[in-house]
Amino acid sequence: MQLVKTGPKRYEDYRELMDIETGLQLEYYAKRLSGKRIAMVNATSYGGGVAEILHSLVPLVRDLGLEIDWWVLEGSNEFFTVTKIIHNCLQGQGETLTPEARALYLRYNEQNAAAIKDWDYDFVVIHDPQPAALIRHRNDGGRAKWIWRCHIDTSTPDPECWDFIYQYIKDYDACIFTMSDFVKENESLPGLTIFTPSIDPLSPKNRALEKEKVEEIVSRFGVDVGRPLITQISRFDPWKDPLGVIDVYRIVKKDFPSVQLALVGSMATDDPEGWDYLYRTLRKAGEDYDIKVVTNVNGVSGLEVNAFQSASSVVIQKSIREGFGLTVSEALWKRVPVVGGNIGGIRHQIDDGINGYLVETVEECADRVLTLLRNATLAAEMGEAGREKVRQNFLITTNILNYLRLFDSLHG
Ligand code: UDP
Repeated sequence: MQLVKTGPKRYEDYRELMDIETGLQLEYYAKRLSGKRIAMVNATSYGGGVAEILHSLVPLVRDLGLEIDWWVLEGSNEFFTVTKIIHNCLQGQGETLTPEARALYLRYNEQNAAAIKDWDYDFVVIHDPQPAALIRHRNDGGRAKWIWRCHIDTSTPDPECWDFIYQYIKDYDACIFTMSDFVKENESLPGLTIFTPSIDPLSPKNRALEKEKVEEIVSRFGVDVGRPLITQISRFDPWKDPLGVIDVYRIVKKDFPSVQLALVGSMATDDPEGWDYLYRTLRKAGEDYDIKVVTNVNGVSGLEVNAFQSASSVVIQKSIREGFGLTVSEALWKRVPVVGGNIGGIRHQIDDGINGYLVETVEECADRVLTLLRNATLAAEMGEAGREKVRQNFLITTNILNYLRLFDSLHG
């Protein structure tokens, strides 16, 4: 495993965005836990929601007076191919996990466990299935509390795959899921805790940008700022349905010919499937120059994602499964209404008809996008409601408070 370096962040800067109560509680728990040592472990420092959260959460927790390190697994394409199969199976769709794949998963976990020999942490938070088996190699005599944080939608997992992962999960001191719907009834899970992930309102991705800056950035990628833009930001992955988004755009385009579509996706290091799906998306977009397909390889990072979200009249998140979907909160925070799939964590963020729409099909999605494109006042009202929803529920400070409360309860 390798340690990830993060830039500094100051808790003070977040004060004005929080309710007084959240601030008081955060400071209370930070004081109680002062000096405690935390390890965060996940599969990648770049791409996808977990890395996004840890880049903000780790330095902020440090600034609150706790010691915290962020470790990432060392893997290879073959390991990440297997962990993507596990991810897909846990979300209910994927090829079978063969005995060879299981052995490979365990071998990489064992190799990575060499780093934990000298660990002296009070709390170890393992994110998602990739590093879940590390717990088999703990040698802290039970002193550290181990927590498994599941970010994916496990409401209808492949039973064999769930059993495979469960044999490790059952040994944890606690586990965190994003929604209670993701936990099967009667499932015996240690220290089951439910809370959502969050966005960082002050990161380059989410802080307010001047209109001129937004326009300058998206123009660089060929967007005509004089015409409406609809956008989906997400990895190129079947669960995110970028091909369905192109179908939506084509329906919208018939009634609203000036519309442009941006599909913005990062290529995560732990997602070998991504390239394949990017090529499929490009083939489907074909010669339509009003579809902009851009990635981190073309120079899209947090600031550019911010600009695309801010420049959009409507953001789409047409996922088929979604653990949470940070991109929804990111857009709502920028007062942009979101039309999203009526599934998983998206349901938690979009209040249908209030800050966006929940949809089941391509046609319904196109219909809702058209409603918002035709009615700027309605879109602005929904965007405002979205901003407040995120402020109250999905900011990084609330997420940290949830972690600290859990640590405190485990600490006894
Ligand atoms: N993201 C990004 N660049 C891109 C595409 C996505 O920075 O080109 C970010 C996106 O803004 C969000 C995260 O990656 O912060 C994706 O998190 P989400 O929860 O939406 O989905 P996941 O990839 O974890 O399934």
